[in-house]
Amino acid sequence: MCPLPASSSRFKSYRLPAFTLALLLLVGTGAASIVGVENLRSSNAWIEHTYRVLNRIEVVDQLIRSSEASGRAYRLTGHPDFRRKYLDVVPGVEREVAALVALTADNPVQAPRARHLETLVQTHMAELQRLHDIQEMFDMEAARKATDATRSLTQWRRIEAVSAQMRAEENRLLAEREARGHQATLGLTVLVVLGTLLSGGLMVWLMWNVTRENRRAQSLEREARDAFHEMALTMARADRLSEQRHRLSRYSGLLQSCETRDEIVQLTATTLTGLIPNVSGQCYLLRASQNFYESIATFGDATISSADLLLSNQCWALRRGQPHHLPAGSGGMPCDHLDPGTSLDTTSSLCLPLVAQGTAIGLLHISTPADEAPDDGDREIVNQIAEQLGLAIANLQLRETLRTQSLRDPLTGLFNRRYLEENLARELQRCERRRLPLSVLMLDVDHFKRFNDTHGHAAGDALLAQVGRLIQAKVRSEDIACRYGGEEFTVVMPELDARGACERAEQIRAAIEVATVLHLRQTLGPVTVSIGIATYPADGMTPEVLQQLADAMLYRAKAEGRNRVLHASYRD
Ligand code: GH3
Ligand code: MG
Ligand code: MG
Repeated sequence: MCPLPASSSRFKSYRLPAFTLALLLLVGTGAASIVGVENLRSSNAWIEHTYRVLNRIEVVDQLIRSSEASGRAYRLTGHPDFRRKYLDVVPGVEREVAALVALTADNPVQAPRARHLETLVQTHMAELQRLHDIQEMFDMEAARKATDATRSLTQWRRIEAVSAQMRAEENRLLAEREARGHQATLGLTVLVVLGTLLSGGLMVWLMWNVTRENRRAQSLEREARDAFHEMALTMARADRLSEQRHRLSRYSGLLQSCETRDEIVQLTATTLTGLIPNVSGQCYLLRASQNFYESIATFGDATISSADLLLSNQCWALRRGQPHHLPAGSGGMPCDHLDPGTSLDTTSSLCLPLVAQGTAIGLLHISTPADEAPDDGDREIVNQIAEQLGLAIANLQLRETLRTQSLRDPLTGLFNRRYLEENLARELQRCERRRLPLSVLMLDVDHFKRFNDTHGHAAGDALLAQVGRLIQAKVRSEDIACRYGGEEFTVVMPELDARGACERAEQIRAAIEVATVLHLRQTLGPVTVSIGIATYPADGMTPEVLQQLADAMLYRAKAEGRNRVLHASYRD
């Protein structure tokens, strides 16, 4: 994870002041707008006031003119319409001039003028009224005579002069107030625009930075999440690896203690099943004939079936001498021993040669459903298992060979004398415990020296091998048939009494008597044998006594003419 970039932390320290400033600007702009609007309103009120004053001056002027005109017209014509008009206008003059005085009361320049105008108007109106009253009282002539045109003109000029002064002053005020109003409007506009732009700009800057920081935070969060996920995966992988190593070391340990091939294969199957869920498989071993591989065990519910017998060229792993992995749906080369009917899109298959001393002594084939296919780590472990399995099987085969070699006579395939001595005592004890008889039979080929001398040592060997096969064919599986040495053989027959032993010995003797052996395209033989027998418990209680007695009987049989069976204590 990388730390927050410097710009972001700098932004953090500026963020609060910038926000406060933007807020203050907004509030300031708002307050200034309110004050500005208020100023504008008041400025407009003053302008409106000026217009009202101007209007009043005009109205007063109009009304005076109207009263003057209607009064004069009445004096000249005496027409009642003019009289009515005059009477209608007169009250308005004084009312309007009073209103003008009231309107200008707060203006120190205009107030005295208004009052002066009021006085002049009142005087002028009083003059008009005097003339009107004379006409009402007397007649038109009297009123005309009472008219002082010069004085009236003078008064009228004074009124006009004051009106003009007031109008000029109001126009000046109007211009001044309008200019101030414009200025206020312009100021307010500038203030609002600047305030809005500044605060808006700050807000935009803040928003942009917040968005950028958010995006950065999101990306950091994503990175953190990814890193956490990666770490969890790594830990899970490490756990799995350690579990696999543990299983592998337990497998190796147990493999050392396996004594049979079945145990080895069973242990391998259990280990593989524990490592890979839903795994199934088959284990093959090379047959002694070296021609083909034969299935010796299967495990799991076969995901894909594989032939029971296969030639090395039917499997890519055996051909190439290295594992052949066929992931599900990979479209790779399937081996010929796999069932072509099973879809390879849903099944993962792995063939591993079992190699020992550079020779493929077998094959391990495993398969899984596609979603549980072994990953690289699993395959590495399975490879190691296959390596150890190959070595273990090879070791076992070697041990079996050595054991066979140490216990069997290589010429005849019968047990050797050492095996006899180890097992005779044990069989005797067993029969002793179960109160059963046991017979020991000693057999010697008659005049074998002569046979050797006549046909050669190799022919003698062939004959001995033939005698060995005949003895093996005539005894039961629980009997122990041995080559005692030279052309002498011993058969231990547990649970067989004297009579049974004599019958069996007779069968052996009779079988050898008629058997010939083919050696170098020559049919040799037959030969005869002499047999001596002793039976536990009647003839002896120990292996030594029984063997000596049987041997003694053998020599007696020789002495009595050979080709016969003699029992120590039993006679037909
Ligand atoms: P008898 O009837 O009294 O037993 O006479 P025999 O000739 O069989 O007995 P003898 O003990 O005189 O001779 C045994 C011969 O067996 C001597 C030996 O050369 C031969 N012999 C011993 N072991 C072997 C062997 O492994 N192979 C061969 N070809 N000959 C053997
Ligand atoms: Mg002999
Ligand atoms: Mg002999």
